[in-house]
Amino acid sequence: GDLVTFDGVTKTYSNGFAALAPVDLAIRRGEVLSVVGPSGCGKTTLLRMAAGLSGASTGSVRRNVERTSYVFQDPTLLAWRSVQANTELVARIRGVGRAERRRAASEALELVGLGHVAHSLPRELSGGMKMRVSLARALASDPELMLMDEPFAALDEFTRERMSDELLRLWRERGFGVMFITHSIREAVKIGHRVVVMAKGPGRVADVVDSPSPPT
Ligand code: ADP
Ligand code: ADP
Repeated sequence: GDLVTFDGVTKTYSNGFAALAPVDLAIRRGEVLSVVGPSGCGKTTLLRMAAGLSGASTGSVRRNVERTSYVFQDPTLLAWRSVQANTELVARIRGVGRAERRRAASEALELVGLGHVAHSLPRELSGGMKMRVSLARALASDPELMLMDEPFAALDEFTRERMSDELLRLWRERGFGVMFITHSIREAVKIGHRVVVMAKGPGRVADVVDSPSPPT
């Protein structure tokens, strides 16, 4: 079945702010779902609920997913630990054994083209490379669902364009489902199979459209 299903979901924060009007939406297994809309429209609210990090005020969020990974705009790497150690971090926190997490992290680093800098420190890397480490760290726990909140927003336009190609290549290789938040309509259409368009105001989904050029 679908990875996550939103049924008539609203979110009113504890201060009374209504951040989400009723949302009906599914994240399908293996699809890339883009979510686009202006700042403050409720994209992160929706993603946090898909993650199970925040509850629905009314309606229900059903999650049918065991392994979820996150990628955010800020790669938040530990400055004093190697690229390899950073890539193993999530698996380590999840209690994956040393040999297995080492293997998974090395494979993920190869996959993002960073096998050669496994022993470097984050400060020796460019912004694009740091984002690749963040992707490798997410991949190393073999996710069924990748939740990505404006992952490439801090990168220059050239790197950003490369990273979206890179993400699609990884997706073809591994076939995980993706919820990809962006405020770029172009990026949403390029990356997604379906595009959720959110409207400004009391967060509501204005439309869900098929991308004219879905990745294959
Ligand atoms: P987006 O990701 O589209 O920029 P958010 O989901 O972060 O939007 O926020 C939607 C709206 O909800 C914003 O107006 C924001 O200020 C408000 N909001 C977000 N989190 C909270 C919270 N914990 N308490 C109150 N208001 C919040
Ligand atoms: P929930 O019911 O999902 O836990 P809360 O209203 O308790 O939502 O807020 C969740 C978190 O968001 C809190 O840690 C709060 O400090 C933070 N927060 C509060 N206001 C905002 C805001 N305007 N934008 C973003 N985050 C906020």
